[in-house]
Amino acid sequence: MSYKRCLLTLSLWMAMAAVAAAAPLKALIIDGQNNHKWQVTTPGLKALLEETKLFTVDVVTSPPRKGDMSNFTPNFSDYDVVVMNYMGDSWSEKTNEAFEKYVAGGGGLVIFHAADNAFPKWKEFNEMIGLGGWGGRNEKDGPYVYWKDGKIVRDMTPGRGGSHGPQHPFQIVVRQKDHPITKGLPEKFTHSADELYSRLRGPAKNMTLLATAYADPAKGGTGNHEPVLMTIDYGRGRVFHTVLGHIDKQLRSVAFIVTYQRGTEWAATGKVTQEVPKDFPGPDEPSVRK
Ligand code: ZN
Repeated sequence: MSYKRCLLTLSLWMAMAAVAAAAPLKALIIDGQNNHKWQVTTPGLKALLEETKLFTVDVVTSPPRKGDMSNFTPNFSDYDVVVMNYMGDSWSEKTNEAFEKYVAGGGGLVIFHAADNAFPKWKEFNEMIGLGGWGGRNEKDGPYVYWKDGKIVRDMTPGRGGSHGPQHPFQIVVRQKDHPITKGLPEKFTHSADELYSRLRGPAKNMTLLATAYADPAKGGTGNHEPVLMTIDYGRGRVFHTVLGHIDKQLRSVAFIVTYQRGTEWAATGKVTQEVPKDFPGPDEPSVRK
C-alpha cells in the first residue's frame, strides 16, 4: 500500500471510530408493576441516563397487576442494557426465555432497588441478580452474604431474606477499588436517607461485591456490612445491582446518581468512560442535587 493510500485508510478508520464512539448506547427501562411508585422513579432513571449523553432511553410498561401478560414481549435484543424498575406478576414463558437469552448472550442488565424483590421463583433471574429479598425468600434460596473482617461471608443460617430499618443516611464503603464502576471513587462516601437493604440472600454466583454499608443496630440494622452495589456475570452478560433508590428523593443523591450512571454504562459496554463529578460526596455528609 502506498503511503498516501495508507494515510487515507487510516483517516477513514479514525472517522469510523469517531462515529462509533459517538453512537449512543440503547437502554430500555422496564416498569408497570412495583411495590414502589415506578411512575415517579422511571422519569428520574431515564433523565439520569440521558444526562450522560451516552444513552438513548426507551421505556416499556407492562400491563397492570393481574393483567394479560401474553402480549408483553419487549424486544430485549434491540438494547445494550435493560434497567429493571419492575417487581410484580410473572412474565410469559416466552418473555422469560427471551430475557434469559438476551442476558446470557452478552446483554447488560441493571437491577434497581426493589427489582431485587421480583420473581422469587424464577431460578435464572435469581442467578442474574445474585441476591434478593422478600417474596418468601429464605435459606432455600442461598446464603446471606455480607462483608466481615476483610472478606465476603456466605452465611447459611436459616431465616428470612430481606429486611431494612427506617430510612437514614449511611456511609458506603468500596470493597473492590479496581472495578471500572468504582475506580476513582473515594473509598468511603455517604448516601442520603434511604432504606438500607439487609439480609438479602440468593445464589450469589459469579458475583463481585463492589461496596457495602454498615447496618447499624441502633438504626434497626443487622450489625453487618451489607452489600449495596454488586456485579454479576451471567453467561456473557453483565449485571449491575444497586439496592439504593427507594423513591425520587434518593435519585437526587449524588452517591446514587454516579454509581447508577457508571453501573449502567459498565453493564452496557464493560467499560466506564465517565468522570467522577466534583459534587461527589465524601465520607461524612451526603451530597444532594436540586
Ligand atoms: Zn424501597
